[in-house]
Amino acid sequence: MWSRYAFSTRLLLCCLHNAMIEIDGSYGEGGGQILRTAVALSALTHRPCRVFNIRKGRPQPGLRHQHLEAAKAVQTLCNGEINGAEIGSTDLRFIPHPIRAGMVDVKIPTAGSIGLVLQAMMIPAFRAQDSVTIRFQGGATNGKFAPPLNYLRFVLMPLLQKMGYKANIVIDRYGYFPRGGARITATIHPAQLQPLDLTQRGALQTVSGTSHAALALKKSRVSERQAEAALAAFNKVGIRGDIDILYSDTICPGAAIELRAIFDNSVIGSDGLGEKGIRAEEVGEKAALALINQLSGPGAVDEYAEDQLLPYMALAPPSRIKAAKITGHAKTNIFVIEKFLPVKFAVHSDMISVKAQV
Ligand code: ATP
Repeated sequence: MWSRYAFSTRLLLCCLHNAMIEIDGSYGEGGGQILRTAVALSALTHRPCRVFNIRKGRPQPGLRHQHLEAAKAVQTLCNGEINGAEIGSTDLRFIPHPIRAGMVDVKIPTAGSIGLVLQAMMIPAFRAQDSVTIRFQGGATNGKFAPPLNYLRFVLMPLLQKMGYKANIVIDRYGYFPRGGARITATIHPAQLQPLDLTQRGALQTVSGTSHAALALKKSRVSERQAEAALAAFNKVGIRGDIDILYSDTICPGAAIELRAIFDNSVIGSDGLGEKGIRAEEVGEKAALALINQLSGPGAVDEYAEDQLLPYMALAPPSRIKAAKITGHAKTNIFVIEKFLPVKFAVHSDMISVKAQV
């Protein structure tokens, strides 16, 4: 009761000082990414925020488990105060406190995406006084419409390293739908970000990947079959690849494959998710074709890194990237970022650049 009173008082003070950043969650595609970016940047800038009309653009508006998990994880990271953090809520208010270093435990009881939660935590975590180690218990390393953990490790992280971001992600156990159960440790170190100028990916060096499945699927050679189909698709267009085969003692069956093309200046990724009724060969081949398709385009980054890099670019202006095509996710992220940081983005054809506001 008292804490709710205290929260309301602080909220009122924020409003009186015009310090509360108000964000319309129905902007653009009106998805959950608006909330994740808002809460993450709120923690980083120490500016309270309110997101209303949350996920108004989605068939089932309001917060779902995975959005709540991300908001609560950022709250834990900064001992923040949160209001309206309930399933179905369309209005959330967040008051951040300083980001804390050391160990942070995040429990995800569902098969919610760890990638989406980590994506939100990574934005403020590098501004802590010292290293932050996040231990995830539960959740999924792979899921639909979310970054696979191996995408964050092998695609996003090398791109962020170009900016001086330092982190290490270790997968102790993979987690799949419907039960999750992954075990992940991510350590993020303090860093001073440098501008990113990524307009040319350069020459292709290597193509590599990770094909993984639950131990229970080893006798059906699921990891091997995903990898063999991907390599066969690469072979047809004259590309040689190298794919690691893994099995993990997971709490439910599942499988996935992540692929990456490593260029002189960049990394581009694709992935495939195993599903009941879909042959392992189909999963592997589709993931490879998605990567081959991107290789024929001009993008220096893939469509996912495009929106995920934007908050970091805004923290190190001037920065620019050449995308394959401008996505709705990128436009929506720009809208949220410009509410928090004194920067201005420009989008010209397939180039996104950001400058400090003068
Ligand atoms: P919703 O309201 O539908 O729940 P959401 O905001 O939670 O939406 P999206 O809007 O789809 O989810 O955003 C998902 C995020 O995950 C984006 O940053 C996107 O780049 C990233 N992402 C989605 N699929 C992949 C993938 N296959 N590989 C890498 N990143 C991905």
